Amino acid sequence: MLSAIWAITLLAVVLLATARSRMIEPMFGGLDRAVRLHRRLGPTAIGLVVLHVLLYLPPMLGAGVPLGDILVPFWSPEARTFDAIVLWTLLAWTGLAYVRGLPYEGWLSLHGLMGPIFLGAGVHSVLEGSTVLAFEPLRFWMWFLVLVGVGAWAYRVLLYRWFAPRYRYRVEAVEPRSGDTIDLVLRPRDRRMIYEPGTFVFIRRPGRAEYHPFSISSSPAERNLRLSVRMLGDFTRALATAPRGEVMEVFGPFGSFTPHRYAHYRRLVCVGAGIGITPFLGMLRFEMTNDDFRRIWLWYVVRDAENAPYDAEIRDLALRADSWIDYDLWITPERGRITAAQVMAAVRPLDDYAVMLCGRPEFVGDMVRQFLAEGLPRERLVWEDFHFN
Ligand SMILES: Cc1cc2nc3c(=O)[nH]c(=O)nc-3n(C[C@H](O)[C@H](O)[C@H](O)COP(=O)(O)OP(=O)(O)OC[C@H]3O[C@@H](n4cnc5c(N)ncnc54)[C@H](O)[C@@H]3O)c2cc1C
Repeated sequence: MLSAIWAITLLAVVLLATARSRMIEPMFGGLDRAVRLHRRLGPTAIGLVVLHVLLYLPPMLGAGVPLGDILVPFWSPEARTFDAIVLWTLLAWTGLAYVRGLPYEGWLSLHGLMGPIFLGAGVHSVLEGSTVLAFEPLRFWMWFLVLVGVGAWAYRVLLYRWFAPRYRYRVEAVEPRSGDTIDLVLRPRDRRMIYEPGTFVFIRRPGRAEYHPFSISSSPAERNLRLSVRMLGDFTRALATAPRGEVMEVFGPFGSFTPHRYAHYRRLVCVGAGIGITPFLGMLRFEMTNDDFRRIWLWYVVRDAENAPYDAEIRDLALRADSWIDYDLWITPERGRITAAQVMAAVRPLDDYAVMLCGRPEFVGDMVRQFLAEGLPRERLVWEDFHFN
């Protein structure tokens, strides 16, 4: 029974973590962290469900209940059809969710089914668990979890369009920055969004169902909202031809990747790889007006000089910023892969800094491991990996 209670608890937390609610994300330290937590908790919760079934089988079989009645829907008039359907749906869902190569949109729609599955599992645990039935506070707690999980799912999947923090912006300009990168400049249509530098938004175009996340590369002090986008697939490529005046929905801001939350660290080491430079652009632009002197080191890691579309902008901002900024354009083929040891050596003898990392998941994961191995305390490492699946 304990495994089932834990499974329901973790699944409720997973649904809450992915609700994309501004009210809830601070509980997890930001939506980006919430999504990372959900990636770890999800498989654990499913494992606990499987463990629950395995532990449940021997006493049931010992009591003479046929295996078919437990596991096969409609096996006999006594079959536990509802429970078996919930179990197999959950297992089939898990199998599909972990299929490699599943397109992101398919993967996301699959997650939309999690609510009804969770509701089935929750109802089963409340109505069938003898311990839960016998102990009123536990029963109350389980119903509460079911309500929380289903509420979070309903908000995210059914009600998001109407209740989420939504702003309407119109396309002011689409500016090509390099062969595969554009700046999408948006102007508030009615209400202007207030945000912290380094946070991100979801945008939704008219006639399209998907919400795509992008870090904000403008400063909160600017009227226009700028998103710097690397064109990867159909959505980002289509942005390049977004007509001037098109009205887009902007949801947010989200995330905890902002120096504001780490005000006690007066020294910041920032490493942005490729398009992972975007949140740092917003932070640097805010440096023009933020009245907050800090010591900042910034590395912009790129494949080659042509793929460094923001180099000139950063050089200019670094000269004019309030803070003292050391900037280094790191061209990997010329200098090899940047390592945490090299970064730390450049900053020595100071060692009271926080490190902010942003880029593709492989880069960020590798750098996080390296910094930890070099002895940097985990609480001084902040990262964003542009990855939700
Ligand atoms: C917090 C965060 C901040 C980001 N900031 C930026 C940024 O500043 N600039 C930038 O160029 N990119 C950013 N990205 C990545 C950007 O969201 C994806 O590149 C974009 O959504 C790809 O869409 P597509 O259809 O063009 O490409 P596809 O080829 O369909 O997708 C490429 C990959 O992007 C991811 N992806 C696709 N659709 C979505 C979606 N709706 N939601 C989340 N991830 C998706 C998937 O991992 C997928 O494998 C960010 C991602 C996250 C999670």
